[in-house]
Amino acid sequence: MDMKNQRILVIFAHPDDPEFMVGGTIAKWTREGARADYVIITDGSAGSNDPAMTREALVSIRQAEQRGACDVAGVSDLVFLGYQDGMLLPTIELRRELTRLIRRYKPTIVVCGDPTAWYYGNSYLNHADHRAAAVAALEAVFPSAETRPIFRELLDEGLEPHKVHQIWITGAASPDTWVDISQDFETKLDALRHHKSQVEVGDGAFIRQWAAEDGKAANIPLAESFKVMKLYHEEPSS
Ligand SMILES: [Zn+2]
Repeated sequence: MDMKNQRILVIFAHPDDPEFMVGGTIAKWTREGARADYVIITDGSAGSNDPAMTREALVSIRQAEQRGACDVAGVSDLVFLGYQDGMLLPTIELRRELTRLIRRYKPTIVVCGDPTAWYYGNSYLNHADHRAAAVAALEAVFPSAETRPIFRELLDEGLEPHKVHQIWITGAASPDTWVDISQDFETKLDALRHHKSQVEVGDGAFIRQWAAEDGKAANIPLAESFKVMKLYHEEPSS
């Protein structure tokens, strides 16, 4: 896929979700000429069990961490919607906000999580915010972003309907597409290292292990996997 005219909108619940899930893919795509913008829906204020940490302090720490990570991966805009971490629901209000951003950024590709993922393996329950973010993202792509009568108030803001060409769903139970991130793996680690309040990356061995596991099915040494929905096939315009 020629990435030069691609516009990527990455939508996740928390600061650090993009780096864990799709950090290698986004670094590869921006290196190949795509534009990528990130939407982080919650404020990240529940990302600490330290009794001495306040929610307010954590919000600014995590926003700064996310900005640093975005710079490493060549991400253009970073939008925080400011919903309360740990309380996210796929409301109409959230769907409208994501629809507004899709119509404004006009992505050819939206990247988001899998709304059907309740758990992974035998020891990881998926965060409820991740599911809610994925539901809202998919419902914003279709039907909201491309359908004129939905959210008519957005037309008053000059935001015309927009068709997203592809959705790349990460964390899917049945992936069908693998991105080789071997060349961009160190960049993924460097971006993750900005999330100091959340993760001790160290030498990245556990991240490398995940990428190796992910790549096994496709015989790729280090990969990130996706289920890809191809909604429309016209060539993207620049
Ligand atoms: Zn998360």
